[in-house]
Amino acid sequence: AEEVGGGDKEVVKEYFNNSGFQRWKKIYGETDDVNKVQLDIRLGHAKTVENVMKMLTDEGSLEGVTVCDAGCGTGCLSIPLAKQGAVVTASDISAAMVAEAEKQAREELLSGKDDGLPAPLMPKFEVKDLESLDGKYHTVVCLDVLIHYPQSKADGMIAHLASLAEKRLILSFAPKTFYYDLLKRVGELFPGPSKATRAYLHAEADVERALQKVGWRIRKRGLITTQFYFAKLVEAVPA
Ligand code: SAM
Repeated sequence: AEEVGGGDKEVVKEYFNNSGFQRWKKIYGETDDVNKVQLDIRLGHAKTVENVMKMLTDEGSLEGVTVCDAGCGTGCLSIPLAKQGAVVTASDISAAMVAEAEKQAREELLSGKDDGLPAPLMPKFEVKDLESLDGKYHTVVCLDVLIHYPQSKADGMIAHLASLAEKRLILSFAPKTFYYDLLKRVGELFPGPSKATRAYLHAEADVERALQKVGWRIRKRGLITTQFYFAKLVEAVPA
């Protein structure tokens, strides 16, 4: 479904407001009604979130640091960021995702708190595609979103995200290597019913080039893999 209707973005938005929302809410959740593949992806993604939190906190406290979580999904990153005192702006192209993220944030950050500590600041949630985000943030993070776009679109998205960031930009994407490309091709021979959107792999060199073009350099890299989940993580800073 590469350029159907309004192109990738419309297809992606429709997917994440409907079947994709149901599928990913389950994967990113905690319930037992997941199959083996979904459970594996849940664990892989949780590792990515953990790695990002470590990358961020290694550089110092997040108290009062402004963070833009672009393509926030159900809030898997926004919520732990808020718990660390970050001032989070979380947005997603899918209204269903934003509503779910907001609900989970209320449950985890506000209700039933009896620890006597001040309540964390609720993230500010917005339904917005990342291309139309504006403002300036100390840190911009965009996890597992680029997989929905070909490199030709990813370049512009990366440039825009970098323009919103003052100090650092963290991106994760599915790496295009010979091995993963092969795996993906094999996977495409057996299309499952819920894999409704195309997945695009990105070569690390292409992502790096897109960053360099707008004056950023990669400072840290990480790779997260489980059986069915793989993500390359990069932290970029102004060059
Ligand atoms: N970043 C979240 C995480 O790691 O938990 C969610 C990842 S999920 C695989 C991809 C998310 O990107 C979906 O919630 C989808 O709606 C969102 N998305 C896709 N294209 C987008 C765009 N152009 N702008 C903003 N969000 C987008």
